[in-house]
Amino acid sequence: MHIIHSAPAAAVADWREQLRTVISDGASLLRELDLHPEQVGLSEAACRDFPLKVPRAFVRRMRRGDPQDPLLRQVLASAGELAQAPGFGPDPTGEVGGANPRAGIIHKYRGRLLLVVASGCAVNCRYCFRRHFPYADNRNSRREWQQALDYVREDSSISEVILSGGDPLVAEDDHLAALCADIAAIAHVKRLRIHSRLPIVLPDRVTPALLDALNPPGLQSVMVVHCNHANELDDAVAQAFRRIRERDMTLLNQAVLLAGVNDSEDALAELSEALFERGALPYYLHLLDRVQGAAHFEVDEQRAQRLHAAITARLPGYLVPRLVREIAGEPAKSGIPPLPPLA
Ligand SMILES: *Cc1c(COP(=O)(O)O)cnc(C)c1O
Ligand code: SF4
Repeated sequence: MHIIHSAPAAAVADWREQLRTVISDGASLLRELDLHPEQVGLSEAACRDFPLKVPRAFVRRMRRGDPQDPLLRQVLASAGELAQAPGFGPDPTGEVGGANPRAGIIHKYRGRLLLVVASGCAVNCRYCFRRHFPYADNRNSRREWQQALDYVREDSSISEVILSGGDPLVAEDDHLAALCADIAAIAHVKRLRIHSRLPIVLPDRVTPALLDALNPPGLQSVMVVHCNHANELDDAVAQAFRRIRERDMTLLNQAVLLAGVNDSEDALAELSEALFERGALPYYLHLLDRVQGAAHFEVDEQRAQRLHAAITARLPGYLVPRLVREIAGEPAKSGIPPLPPLA
């Protein structure tokens, strides 16, 4: 009997151990990849603002010796981050002001409310729109959780609660289980959505205990993962997707359009195909939020429209993500209208 019970415990210890032993300095990362700092523009100064952080499971999918690797580019603290660019600021999506009515809540859109469940992530994506978010003011104790849940209880127009962060899946299973059970007990909430990059960057996080926590009776659960390039999808991720789908969860992906990572017709088409092969549907393709330090990732809107038109012409409709931009104060994410593809 003891042997049976020790198996899930070992798996849980493993994801925590992987989270504790993420790579957090550029020199070690580059050593793993047989690269030199000057080949990639590594910047220690950029790390001081927003530390370098990447799980080894993600590093293993990077190509050795390739300074242009699309996965490396997403996590490497580079000198480009120090440039000041006009129009790029600390809070491009307007989350710090009026949309943040109580600690840990972002209520911007009708019927949906976002809970900031955890302050950290397993990976620090250099283009992240929350790299300057005041997480310290949004770290909730259990008592504050009840106040956030009271807000949901009091507003019967809220039919969907979105767990976000940071990355909500860095929280412990028992915490998530208690929170999800409390949400399931609110009659007007029908759906629970989880926005997480962990199934991609640290797929061992997707344990049976986690999936139990995220699927309380009475709620439909939707998992929205964040993958930007087909190379991010290895066998371990495919297995994590399978475990999610075995619970009848809807599995969607959001990606960010990033210069030097996925800003080509082929990269975007291959991403959609690779996601679908593993059971996930593309949902959103975000234009970059204009966050300070990320200007070197920007793809201008007209090119974005043309790339989107090109994949629309090439793929079945269900494999074409919606091209959107977040505009502070707008009632929903704003769709970007298509342009004709370049001949
Ligand atoms: C994206 C987002 C949502 C969800 O929007 P959908 O269009 O339903 O995907 C909700 N709240 C916030 C703050 C968001 O940024
Ligand atoms: S996982 Fe998501 S929230 Fe965390 S740094 Fe990356 S993009 Fe930002």
